[in-house]
Amino acid sequence: MGTIDGLPPLRDVIRDHDLVAKKQLGQNFLLDLNLTAKIARLAGDLSACDVLEVGPGPGGLTRGLLAEGARRVLAVEKDPRCIPALDEIAAAYPGKLEIVNGDALEVDVLAHLVPPIRIVANLPYNVGTELLIRWLSPAMWPPVWDSLTLMFQKEVAERIVAKPRGNHYGRLAILSQWRTDAKIVMHLPPEAFTPAPKVHSAVVHLKRLDEPRYPADPAVLSRVTAMAFNQRRKMLRSSLKGLGGDVEALLNSVGIVPTARAEEIGIEAFCALARAVAAR
Ligand code: SAM
Repeated sequence: MGTIDGLPPLRDVIRDHDLVAKKQLGQNFLLDLNLTAKIARLAGDLSACDVLEVGPGPGGLTRGLLAEGARRVLAVEKDPRCIPALDEIAAAYPGKLEIVNGDALEVDVLAHLVPPIRIVANLPYNVGTELLIRWLSPAMWPPVWDSLTLMFQKEVAERIVAKPRGNHYGRLAILSQWRTDAKIVMHLPPEAFTPAPKVHSAVVHLKRLDEPRYPADPAVLSRVTAMAFNQRRKMLRSSLKGLGGDVEALLNSVGIVPTARAEEIGIEAFCALARAVAAR
């Protein structure tokens, strides 16, 4: 049976290039090209966009992005064994795919792309969370990218979209939802991957807001939420003692009950608190 792009099936690519999955690189590959095309579609219409793909591996998602008509894809892959397989895709899509062999935590390639830029990745989970935090924390807002479409372990995806009072609500939810619209757009069982991981996965789509939802200094908001959630079971009047001064009065001044806990406080109130701290 033919593939969506006339290139060999991914099982053959993996066999021909001897791409035995390496656990230390978090290699759980997606081999179903219909599924990878579906994930690419979750990133929206890519025909007028440059796409940064991190961790293309043997290229399943890369092929999905190109088959769905991405204007250009820049793919950063750490494992040199994958590069010849990716070169074959580049040859089938002349001028559309550029491959960088490097560690996405060390090489910053965003500056090489032309806006509008979308970022799409199926990454090892630890690398994915670290990159998400970096992409959400640029020096200036709005960032250079329009949206992020990222695969995570289901539990991390739930932390990104969590609402106050839920078990998963914390700093990652505040950081993500303060300046983006974040939604889980697909759930994947372990069997969708080869080899199958132990956990379920989910794709999260984060669309940047042009302005933060509520005004606040990012550094102050980061400090206040770190303090509040480091001791999430404690009352805020005690977990925020490190802010110094009369913490109860500070909390009362922005309408937060001093005996409340961090997990009960929404983003708007945390931003009000960050503004009050900055104004002291
Ligand atoms: N995108 C492919 C797919 O969906 O089948 C591969 C996904 S696999 C979960 C993660 C990929 O990220 C692997 O190819 C791995 O080598 C690569 N990778 C791991 N750490 C990386 C890093 N720091 N920078 C770039 N690529 C990385």
